[in-house]
Amino acid sequence: MDEKIKEIKENLLKKKERKFEKLTAEESIQIDAYAKEYMRYLDEGKTEREAAARAMAMAADHGYVEFKEGSPLLPGSKYAVSFGGKMVVLVHMGELPMSEGCNIIASHIDSPRLDLKPNPLYEESNAAYFKTHYYGGIRKYQWMTIPLALHGVVCRKDGETVEVAIGEAEGDPVFCITDLLPHLGREQGSKPLNTAHAGEILTPIAGTIPYAGEGEDRVKLSVMALLNSRYGITEEDFASAELSFVPAVNAKNVGLDASLIGAYGQDDRVCAYASLAALLGQSAAPKHTSVVVLADKEEIGSEGVSGMKSAKFDHLLASLCGNDMGVFHACLDNSLCLSCDVSAAFDPSFAEVYERRNTAYINGGISICKYTGGGGKSGASDASAETLAKLRKAFAENDVTWQLCELGKIDVGGGGTVAKYMAERGIETIDAGTPVLSMHAPFEVTSKFDCYHTYLGCKAILAL
Ligand SMILES: [Zn+2]
Repeated sequence: MDEKIKEIKENLLKKKERKFEKLTAEESIQIDAYAKEYMRYLDEGKTEREAAARAMAMAADHGYVEFKEGSPLLPGSKYAVSFGGKMVVLVHMGELPMSEGCNIIASHIDSPRLDLKPNPLYEESNAAYFKTHYYGGIRKYQWMTIPLALHGVVCRKDGETVEVAIGEAEGDPVFCITDLLPHLGREQGSKPLNTAHAGEILTPIAGTIPYAGEGEDRVKLSVMALLNSRYGITEEDFASAELSFVPAVNAKNVGLDASLIGAYGQDDRVCAYASLAALLGQSAAPKHTSVVVLADKEEIGSEGVSGMKSAKFDHLLASLCGNDMGVFHACLDNSLCLSCDVSAAFDPSFAEVYERRNTAYINGGISICKYTGGGGKSGASDASAETLAKLRKAFAENDVTWQLCELGKIDVGGGGTVAKYMAERGIETIDAGTPVLSMHAPFEVTSKFDCYHTYLGCKAILAL
C-alpha cells in the first residue's frame, strides 16, 4: 500500500525539488562566476544612466551597433538603441521574419533613490544641506544614517554635460542624513512608521566649513566653490541637472557561505543583467528576433519618453518591421514578452504578510508571477494559462529552477511591473524574476542561485 501511495504521489503531486541542495561542483563554479560579474555590473551602474551606459558598452563589445533607419534587417544583425541614455533596447535579428514575432525580455534599470530638488543647496545652523525629493517607493527611515554617494549629470548652459560621482572613489567623502537620538525620540517613536520621517527631512549634510570672509551663507558658498572646482558648475546649473543620492556601498557577499548578494538597486538590475548576459551570450542568430529592453521610470509608473509606456519603443519595433504596418501588427500578435522583474521573497520575520503556499522563497529559483496588482487582481497584468504553459515548457527543457508566487497575502498591498504596458500593446506577456529580500531598501538581498536561474530562464525564453 505504501508503495502504491508513493507511486500515485509521484504521478499526481508537484515535486518538491530542492535543487540548490544538490549542486554539482561545476554548477557552483558557474553560479559564483556569474554572481561576480553581476556584482560588478551593480557597482558600475547605480543610476539608470550609468546602468544604460554600461549595457551599451557591453553590447558594443559583443558587436552590437547603433540602429539607424535603413540599417539592414538581416538574420544575425545586432543593434543597440539608447533612448536619451536612460533606456536601452538591444536587438539580435532572428532567422524568422519579424512577422513571426520576437522574444522580448523587459526589465528596468531605475531604482528608488533620493533626487536633488531644483533648488537643492541651502545653509542652516552652521551647516549646508541638500534638499531632496525621493524617487520611487522608499521606507524613509532606511535612508537615514547610512553613507550616501551623489551620482548624476549636470547639463551646463554652454552645452556641456558633466558627469558627477562623489562618494565612490577610495578616500572620497560621502554624505549622510542625520536622525534623531533615541533619548529625544519618544514622540517620533510613537508615530506610525510611514509618518515618523517626513519627506522634507531627507536632507543630506553637504559641509560645515564657511568660505573665508564676512557675510551670510558662507558654508553654502564654500560647498558651491568645491563643486565648482571639481565640476565647473554654478548654483544655477542645478536647474538642468539630474543628481541623485544613492547608497555609497558596493555589492557584498552576504552570509558566512557567501551564498547571497547584498547590494543597492538589485530591483531590477538583477533581471536587467540576467537578460543582458543571456542575449550577449548568444553565439548565433536566434530563431525569433531577440529583444532586450532595459527601461527607465518603472518605479514611478513607467512614465515619460524613457519609460515602458514610451512610443519610442513602438517606433523602433515598427522600424525593425521595415515600417510595414501589416508586419508590425503581426509582430505584436506573435511576440512573447517576459516582464523580468523581481518578486518579494518570503521573509520569516514578517511571515504575516505572505501567503506561504503562494510565495517566492530564497533559493527557489526564478519566480513566475501569473498576475501582479492588488486585492481582487485590481490593476493586474494577468498572463494567460497558454502563456504560462509555454514558459513552463521552456524552463523544464532548459533545467531552469522556477517557482510560482503572488506578491503577499490578498488585500495587504500590491504592486506592478512593466508587464501591463507590454500587454496593452497586444503582446502576450508574463512576469517572472528573482526573489528579493528587503525590496527597495538601500541594501537588498538576493540569492546567487536565484540570480543564476533567472539568467538561465532568460536564455530559455530568447531561444524559443
Ligand atoms: Zn522592479
